Amino acid sequence: MFKEAKKIIDKSNKIYISAHVNPDGDAIGSTLAIYFGLKKLGKNVHVVMPSYSNVFSFLPGVGDCVNSIEDEEYDLLIALDSSDNTRLAISEEEYNNARKVIMLDHHQISNPYGDFRYIDDSKSSASEIAYLFIKALKIEIDKDMATLLYAGIMTDTGSFNYNNTSSDTHRIVADLIDYGAETVNVCKRLNDTIKEAKLKLIAKTIDNMEVFYNGKMRYSFIPYEEIKSLGIDDEDAEGMTNYLRSVEGTEVAVYVRGKSDGTNKVSMRSGGNVDISKIAISFGGGGHPRAAGYTMKDSEDIEKQKLIKVVGEML
Ligand code: AMP
Ligand code: MN
Ligand code: MN
Repeated sequence: MFKEAKKIIDKSNKIYISAHVNPDGDAIGSTLAIYFGLKKLGKNVHVVMPSYSNVFSFLPGVGDCVNSIEDEEYDLLIALDSSDNTRLAISEEEYNNARKVIMLDHHQISNPYGDFRYIDDSKSSASEIAYLFIKALKIEIDKDMATLLYAGIMTDTGSFNYNNTSSDTHRIVADLIDYGAETVNVCKRLNDTIKEAKLKLIAKTIDNMEVFYNGKMRYSFIPYEEIKSLGIDDEDAEGMTNYLRSVEGTEVAVYVRGKSDGTNKVSMRSGGNVDISKIAISFGGGGHPRAAGYTMKDSEDIEKQKLIKVVGEML
């Protein structure tokens, strides 16, 4: 499965690993687990992650991440959890400076890139693929790597609740527990702890909620000024969509947040009957049937009306 990738790794020394911008637990867990693994092979390896939510700072290796790729040329880029190379947390120039690129991803809709690709949308997460990749390279998984992979799988499966969770996912997680994954701490830090400002953001999300189609669609927009006034940064302002989706009868939940760069980021969740990846793609984004997103190109009020119309057609 990873034979060609192994050949590329064998020939590479200077290696960078990256994932999509605004990294989630899966992007962080998968990149750092491979980082620790390749260090064991004696590679000169770095993870490029210019910004991340500080809820992840407890994870091993997060402090080792670098902001950019300073080398003019390097042997290999390993890209994880990013269906499109333009969404990677590196610049186009940094991408082009790689002699080889390995792409490992689990998104359904994808613009494949790189010299070696492993894309499997039946896998729960990039971290599940990273586990298989590390195993194929015959690298021993230690406690830190197990904790990282566990964090990635746990977050992308909604604590093993989403339908991307397979029996293989559970078998892999069982292995990770045997390797010493700190499951209780990961759960405590990522599922069970929020800042007070985040609690206020939840209140604001509910306050700003608009309801359409007899409760089948819920929409909440929080302008950047409101997010800023709560003292929340871009990375910490996400994660509100599930609250909207969890309301009885909701088919499509939409949370839109203003970002510091002036754009509005749309985050959608589906109850299961509407494939929202199609909607996101039609607006220039992407994702999965039940979790998808995009960045608004027009003003929020215009984009909102367009979206309401499209959702109405799909319901
Ligand atoms: P989010 O709502 O931000 O958690 O995103 C849910 C999923 O939608 C992610 O896992 C991505 O697969 C996808 N996604 C979000 N934003 C974009 C985008 N701008 N372009 C492509 N895919 C996106
Ligand atoms: Mn991700
Ligand atoms: Mn993922």
